[in-house]
Amino acid sequence: MEMSGQTALVTGATAGIGRAVAVQLAQEGAEVIVHGRDARRGAEVVAHIEAAGGRARFVPADLADSDDVLRLAAESGAVDILVNNAGVYKFLPTSEMTDELFDLHMDLNTKAPYLLVRSLAPGMVRRGHGSIVNVSTLAASEVTTGTGMYSASKAALEQLTEIWAAEYAAQGVRVNAVAPGPTRTPGTDDMDAATFKRIEATTAMGRVAEPEEVAEAVVFLASRRSSYITGVVLEVSGGRLALG
Ligand code: NAP
Repeated sequence: MEMSGQTALVTGATAGIGRAVAVQLAQEGAEVIVHGRDARRGAEVVAHIEAAGGRARFVPADLADSDDVLRLAAESGAVDILVNNAGVYKFLPTSEMTDELFDLHMDLNTKAPYLLVRSLAPGMVRRGHGSIVNVSTLAASEVTTGTGMYSASKAALEQLTEIWAAEYAAQGVRVNAVAPGPTRTPGTDDMDAATFKRIEATTAMGRVAEPEEVAEAVVFLASRRSSYITGVVLEVSGGRLALG
């Protein structure tokens, strides 16, 4: 229970990787603010955590709306651990990317984390400690066709991770990122079997990740076990890059 007494805000914790992170942080003793939009899924995650003896509450907010992001920060109160996990990924060639989808990628994947760090990091600085983990993607550092705005919005988040790490290091706040490879979540549920097989074949391990495997890395970076690590992007990719 090394996180007891700490409060963690996990965005997009109603599904997939965020849900797994929220559950594991609660197992470590943190009180978890489960964020998302879907109240039914939020209640299910809170009930799951409480049934295992943990503490959690659900705070809904639409992260595409800056005012709602700021309300989420205000309603969260003092936060020791911030996990910027919620994200959108629509794979489209540039000619098919609408203005609305451009804005959605930037608002959700880049601006919402920015606003949350701007709102919550000063409190961490005042209390002398804090840990921020941003969930990026392998696609932020690989050049692939069709992932344009997704890759660009997450590449900005990775750059901000390093900038924030430098900005806050001397004040006791660490900032890191995890870059998952393909992971089995509700967000990737609609992928057809052939695409799934093709993606699995690009990993050295020959399989996609389970959300819990990505969450382990997030929780490690959030915890004091990684006390001398800041400004890194940790790939959790089943050895995908090892294939060259
Ligand atoms: P997912 O299954 O699609 O779940 C998305 C989560 O984000 C849900 O909790 C959803 O909440 C929330 N969310 C979506 N739009 C939102 C909005 N406008 N406002 C507030 N919350 C919103 O996601 P995932 O696959 O676990 O992905 C999580 C993160 O990992 C993302 O940042 C993604 O880019 C990254 N990632 C995923 C993969 C992968 O293969 N799955 C690979 C690399 C990186 P509600 O449904 O309650 O609104």
